[in-house]
Amino acid sequence: MNARAPKGTSDMLPDVARAWEHLQRVAQELFALYGYEPVYTPLFEHTDVFTRGIGEATDIVSKEMYTFEDKGGRSITLRPEGTASVVRASLEHNLTANGAQAKLYYAGPMFRYERPQKGRMRQFWQIGIECLGAPEPTADAEVITVLWRYFESLGIPSTNMRLLLNSMGDEACRPAYRDTIASFIRGHAADLCDECSRRADTNPLRAFDCKDPACREVMAGAPLLRDELCEECATHYAAVKAHLDALDIPYIEDSTLVRGLDYYTRTVFEVQVDAGLGSQNAIGGGGRYDRLMQEYGGPATPGLGFALGFERTLLALEAAGVQIPAVPRAEVFVARVDDSVTAEVFALSQRLRDAGVAAELDHQARSLKSQFKQADRLGARLVVIVGPEELAAGEVTLRDMSTKEEKRLALDSATADVIAALGEEGTD
Ligand code: AMP
Repeated sequence: MNARAPKGTSDMLPDVARAWEHLQRVAQELFALYGYEPVYTPLFEHTDVFTRGIGEATDIVSKEMYTFEDKGGRSITLRPEGTASVVRASLEHNLTANGAQAKLYYAGPMFRYERPQKGRMRQFWQIGIECLGAPEPTADAEVITVLWRYFESLGIPSTNMRLLLNSMGDEACRPAYRDTIASFIRGHAADLCDECSRRADTNPLRAFDCKDPACREVMAGAPLLRDELCEECATHYAAVKAHLDALDIPYIEDSTLVRGLDYYTRTVFEVQVDAGLGSQNAIGGGGRYDRLMQEYGGPATPGLGFALGFERTLLALEAAGVQIPAVPRAEVFVARVDDSVTAEVFALSQRLRDAGVAAELDHQARSLKSQFKQADRLGARLVVIVGPEELAAGEVTLRDMSTKEEKRLALDSATADVIAALGEEGTD
């Protein structure tokens, strides 16, 4: 048996898992201010949900999906992203029936068969929001603001971040622009990489995303969609920018930002950071997808959202020197002098826990000295020492781990006294 985690995956050990929980907590608190509610969809879906929604010609669908046939002969795919599933679920459960608005957020693992590198995993974790049923540009500005504020609330300095913004047009103006870019690519095929040349027939706009320097140079001279938006899209885009201006959200217009999924219409955006991340510098992004629900056979329902990546956000936090708040594993350690007091140690630990104090005790019959070391390792500020002689007098000893001072407490009032001592400690 191969006892290592599969390539491109990693175990979330307690330090990282605590960071993930912190990211989720900050998200829950912030998203609640904007009225987003939690949703959990399955980790796998019928493959069509992704091929129809994300688009056959995208990298995700053509190369990166974990697709398999289940024992019932169905084609199943591990979700490569969250939006398709949330829109599928909203349609299935009529969350946006009769013009209702649904504001939802999710957090969990996603799966893409990519070449692993720093900040790029095959199983990675995302947090995202989706705002369904909202065509107005205020919704775009709100979603973008939530993403920006989220990174700010985590402690990433805004000077480390770059918010890129673009409009990809809609079914009125994008098809003509796609044709323009396809002809542009055919006209410059000799200077482009093979993949970009092929993109003329499959997904021409993706040529803007190619990392090859020669392709970048050619595409820098390509016609810009910004100049060819239809009137409705141009008006919508201008309003989104005006709302962001009013909030002082510092976006940079980038008309080559196309993002890799077919379902986007109009507004798209991405937050990038340089410090701590190599080429995988996008920590979050999203956009509007007004036609996605129709792709699934539902009524026309505008919507938009974002997704942000946990691993890359963590790298950005590390690079910015932001510490994830550490929760001590034990505030109090209840130590025993010898075996004769084990029952009392166990009972006192439980009384402390019942009173809301994180308390730990020794389960390995260690010496008193090792118990002190263990208390230190766990971050305990106080140790309650239970010994046979003190116990005979109805007392225990309270030791302050930073000052090493000790004092006697009556066993009867030990829980209240420990809580009081923790309160005093916290005030200095
Ligand atoms: P996307 O769904 O491709 O728009 O990605 C949204 C965010 O998810 C990105 O900005 C990244 O932070 C993160 N992300 C996407 N793909 C990966 C991956 N393979 N590994 C780690 N994070 C990823």
